[in-house]
Amino acid sequence: MRGLYIGRFQPYHLGHQAVLKKIAQEVEEIVIVIGSAQESHTPENPFTGGERMEMIYAALSEIDLRECSIVTPLQDIQRNSVWVSHLRSMVPRFDVVYSNNPLVVQLMSDAGIEIRRSPMYQREQYSGTTIRKLMSENREWAGLVPASVAAFIREIGGLERLIAISKSDRD
Ligand code: ATP
Ligand code: MG
Repeated sequence: MRGLYIGRFQPYHLGHQAVLKKIAQEVEEIVIVIGSAQESHTPENPFTGGERMEMIYAALSEIDLRECSIVTPLQDIQRNSVWVSHLRSMVPRFDVVYSNNPLVVQLMSDAGIEIRRSPMYQREQYSGTTIRKLMSENREWAGLVPASVAAFIREIGGLERLIAISKSDRD
């Protein structure tokens, strides 16, 4: 059985890691889809599709899930009514989708695909929005992502990038 987990992973954090550990108890293989893969260098989407792919593979190695996972980027198509077909044309076949995102849940249900929700893990702090805010304010963020992800973000100058692109020309 193959499960699919989709997110933007801006950045990949310990909430995502907890969800994947749980999914791995239910399916043999996991397809992890990086949504809005074309986006980067914005306050909402600081990291490229490729950078997010590297983050996720590094984090999967930490919990021994790299062998049973496929990570793949997916561009937006700006047309929700055919988005599930778009997804299906780009990724390996899957039996069940894991998501808590209301739009994803709705589109998958419309297409007759089984959806499973996962519990939310410490959602206040394990949240992409929260972590990007902490990073852009140069406050403590590294403890909210796997150690390998924090190291990768430092290696690519991710913190400096996020701080720089969060400024306006009036600053
Ligand atoms: P953002 O605030 O940028 O939307 P996010 O933390 O919601 O970031 P996503 O990449 O949007 O991260 O999330 C992918 C999937 O993981 C979604 O289904 C989301 O609901 C789920 N998710 C995110 N954080 C957690 C968490 N702490 N516990 C469980 N599921 C989570
Ligand atoms: Mg989200």
